Amino acid sequence: MSDQTRFILNETDLPKFWYNINADSPLAPTPVLHPQTMEPVTPDFLSVLFPMELILQEISTERYIQIPDEVREIYKLWRPTPLHRAIRLEKALGTPAHIYYKHEGVSPTGSHKPNTAIAQAYYNKAAGTKAITTETGAGQWGSALSLAGSFFNIPIEVYMVKVSYNLKPYRRLLMEAYGAQVYASPSDRTQFGRSILANDPECPGSLGMAISEAVEVAATSDGVKKYSLGSVLNHVLLHQTVIGEEALKQMDMAGEYPDVVIGCVGGGSNFSGIAFPFLRNNLKEGKRTRLIAVEPTATPSITRGLYTFDYGDTAHMAPIIKMHTLGHAFVPPPIHAGGLRYHGMAPALSALCNAGYIDAISVSQLATFEAALIFTRSEAIIPAPESAHAIRTVIDEALDAKEKGEKRVILFNLSGHGHFDMASYQAYFSGTLQDYDHPEEAIKAAMASLPKVDLPA
Ligand SMILES: *Cc1c(COP(=O)(O)O)cnc(C)c1O
Repeated sequence: MSDQTRFILNETDLPKFWYNINADSPLAPTPVLHPQTMEPVTPDFLSVLFPMELILQEISTERYIQIPDEVREIYKLWRPTPLHRAIRLEKALGTPAHIYYKHEGVSPTGSHKPNTAIAQAYYNKAAGTKAITTETGAGQWGSALSLAGSFFNIPIEVYMVKVSYNLKPYRRLLMEAYGAQVYASPSDRTQFGRSILANDPECPGSLGMAISEAVEVAATSDGVKKYSLGSVLNHVLLHQTVIGEEALKQMDMAGEYPDVVIGCVGGGSNFSGIAFPFLRNNLKEGKRTRLIAVEPTATPSITRGLYTFDYGDTAHMAPIIKMHTLGHAFVPPPIHAGGLRYHGMAPALSALCNAGYIDAISVSQLATFEAALIFTRSEAIIPAPESAHAIRTVIDEALDAKEKGEKRVILFNLSGHGHFDMASYQAYFSGTLQDYDHPEEAIKAAMASLPKVDLPA
């Protein structure tokens, strides 16, 4: 075993195909329902929001879907991303485990999100879309789509959750630098936004509300504007598998194969992106890699939410999907600094967790930031608070391996860097962050407003 630190692929090794888990998943896809009629949605309904090529990817069962040349050309600005072996972290922990991470923070906007943003802008351009609307929480997705819009010359309208808009001006400025229009949500630009503001002028906003605004603008644009989502949907998970396909080649270069693959989950895209190619090997080649999705105790959709049909957004405009959910009215606690704030979870990932193919755990806020700093002080990189949830679990795995004297091989996705999240670190340093468990009563109350769907839950 060499002590090589970074495993670097050539541009020519950039994958030519995304991997579609629906080709190999032993689970039948669950229906996607219209938010008013609760009947299965038709491509017609979806085509108000998305270009047809993305709708076809959403329902495709083809195993490999070709990455268009134009998309690969743009990927080459930062892909293939490096795989690092965290030798210094291993030493700091005194663990016999080998820890590897895929560094998606090297993308121009600092996270994995451009992997799908570039693809979505490409298919929208090809379909003649004149503008794309979207929402953003902390700003990672908004900046990725703004970047993609600038490459394909498509105007981007971003509805940014108001607390983040006010607290994170640098992400907003980054979006504006790429040429996007950014609005604080709830805004007075939509009927839904105005209705929220009429009741609560100080409303801090939520992802669910911002999605409703972005969807409303696209849905009422007579087909001129489309809507784009940065996580949750099948086509988003599909585009992110470029991460895992590269990682497979790089683990091969390292001469090892992971016993455990770990990623944080908000809507589930970066975790699925790294994990699904390894799940393929579990399903088809008899490998036994454990796949662990990590979420915050403040937004524990998989570990404590219900696996059931729920609305994708607050205003019941987006489709109803079967997923792990905390309820579509969920507004994350303001004290939670760690990102990963969506109420639901990708349906494909939810189903695989529910059937036991993928494990999920939740970690608390203080332990997460503690792990982030252990990582920073050995590997030098400031992780995004989201990614730090994965790091907490990686460190726990490595310490468990130490206790058991096992040479475990751990791979995780470093989904992004934290350079725009230093205010969260400041809150941690100053001691104002606290642990927060989402209260059981809040989950119970939210379940009362689930759609009454006439299908087996
Ligand atoms: C958006 C984001 C996440 C969470 O989204 P997923 O779809 O679950 O990947 C995680 N990490 C970073 C850095 C992000 O920007």
